[in-house]
Amino acid sequence: MILPILQYGDPILRTKGQRIEKIDDRIRELAANMIETMHAAHGVGLAAQQIGEALQLTVLDISAVEDRPSTLKLGGKDADPTSAMPLVLINPEIELRGESEVGVEGCLSFPEITGDIERAQSVIVRAQTLEGGTIEIEAGKFLARAIQHEHDHLNGILFIDRMRSAAKAALSSRLKRLQKETRRGIRHREPLVSETTL
Ligand code: ZN
Repeated sequence: MILPILQYGDPILRTKGQRIEKIDDRIRELAANMIETMHAAHGVGLAAQQIGEALQLTVLDISAVEDRPSTLKLGGKDADPTSAMPLVLINPEIELRGESEVGVEGCLSFPEITGDIERAQSVIVRAQTLEGGTIEIEAGKFLARAIQHEHDHLNGILFIDRMRSAAKAALSSRLKRLQKETRRGIRHREPLVSETTL
């Protein structure tokens, strides 16, 4: 089922997600719906807050992204990142590695807005899986960026918080307008910026 994606201005986007203690049918169904919703919106990541659930749950799929490479290590060995997609992360914890780099990002909750965001080039992620196990992966490049963006969502942090102040100031009237529209129940149906929206 495709779920409505909440826009900037909805207070749930600012709510830290609760830890998921039990992976039951409700969580499995929610994750499946989030994957369907992310694909329908041509996004590469979606956090539970974006569909109205303040939970430590995010889904990602970078397999359609061709122009921004990703790397993945599973159990210390290089793996094809697309083989792990869609990726469902429950209660993820991340450790930032390497240098940071600036790259453009969009967000499914911010129609038509993009910005340059500084992120670590690599992350170690420990998370629970839908099957009840745990995974540890090392993600690099674009996948690392996407995971950091989603991990921020799970803590109520939005990509505009990480924009340089001049860039954010330049967007301020658009952000205010979007907030107002969200409060009035006006939804943007057009997708968004392809392939970099998280
Ligand atoms: Zn986002």
